[in-house]
Amino acid sequence: MSGGTRVLVLNAGSSSVKYQLIDMLDGTRAAAGLVERIGERGGRLAHTPPDGGRREVLADFPDHTAALSSMAAQLELDGMGLDSPELAAVGHRVVHGGQRFTEPTLVTDEVLDHIRLLIPVAPLHNPANIAGIEVARRLRPDLPQVAVFDTAFHATLPEPAARYAIDRRTADAYRVRRYGFHGTSHQYVSRETARLLGRDPAEVNVIVLHLGNGASASAVAGGVCVETSMGLTPLEGLVMGTRSGDADPGLVFHLHRVGGLTIDEIDDLLNRRSGLLGLCGDNDMREVLRRSEEGDEEARLAFDAYVHRLRKYIGAYYAVLGRVDAIVFTAGVGENAAPVREAACAGLQALGIELDPELNEVRSGEARVVSRAYSRVTVAVVPTDEELEIARQSFALVRGA
Ligand code: ADP
Repeated sequence: MSGGTRVLVLNAGSSSVKYQLIDMLDGTRAAAGLVERIGERGGRLAHTPPDGGRREVLADFPDHTAALSSMAAQLELDGMGLDSPELAAVGHRVVHGGQRFTEPTLVTDEVLDHIRLLIPVAPLHNPANIAGIEVARRLRPDLPQVAVFDTAFHATLPEPAARYAIDRRTADAYRVRRYGFHGTSHQYVSRETARLLGRDPAEVNVIVLHLGNGASASAVAGGVCVETSMGLTPLEGLVMGTRSGDADPGLVFHLHRVGGLTIDEIDDLLNRRSGLLGLCGDNDMREVLRRSEEGDEEARLAFDAYVHRLRKYIGAYYAVLGRVDAIVFTAGVGENAAPVREAACAGLQALGIELDPELNEVRSGEARVVSRAYSRVTVAVVPTDEELEIARQSFALVRGA
């Protein structure tokens, strides 16, 4: 086993790879970067070296091998190449772990085969994650590669929450169940919230609202996830940037039979042309807020629909948990959009939720409480850090901790 203290975290998407080299002694970033437009013309790699500057490579990256080789060359320039003895492991974000992978897992040929088997349930994500793993293994065959699954934290969902109420045999034959996503973020944020409250995670019940481009809510009871809003795919649940979230499955038949749309067109509609974008033409919450402040009615409706769904989930998860100690906002919208937090918590005093309007307006990158001191339920903003969580879990696994 390597005696290194650094973990390289890879988050490989279909046309991009994000990477961070994290020093586990203090959690700092030794380097970070992003490769974009893989497989297209006009690719770009943006690298942040340890001194905080920035380097850019403009080139075509025909595939993930080219992208990761270029990343490796950048790390090499910083004296932290993939052959560095400092490197303890590579931690890979893998979106779908199915029912089998409920823990961070050391990658073997057999594990990789099983991740491949899950491609039908994550056709957009798992192939890219696999490509990242394969290339990293080729570049450094002796180094432990750890897969950390977006679904893993939700593996504890009780059966009544994980099952769709459809014919059991059909569901089981096609592995149809509620898996949930963003798990690494929900896990990290729920634990950091307990820390912010100065309490043991095993003692606190938390509703986590991860509001980024994709958005999901989860109910975490004593550190264990008992409900989450995404399901078989990341389409279920909250209104998102471009995804509809919850919708009557009957609308698929309607659009197909009456509207003549193909299944692929409906897939595209619900995943890429719905949510805030579908309602008002903008998927970025900053734009939605700016326009609605100027009195734009479509933007206002998009904001109101977004918040309405959020409030339904807060209410539902309150009932699921019975007792709520904290509601926590995270990711791009959750961390930055004070009006979303304000509207989501408005009028919920009867549930013990009392936002402090002044604290809520404070801009900060730190974990912080934004509710009044006497609020029975603490409302908090906790910045998520999926890469750090992946690095921690990978490091713990290779260290046998
Ligand atoms: P991803 O899901 O891609 O990781 P992020 O968590 O980075 O997304 O969130 C991105 C979204 O956060 C943007 O689309 C934007 O809507 C929102 N966002 C970022 N900054 C702000 C801000 N200051 N105010 C409102 N929304 C913001």
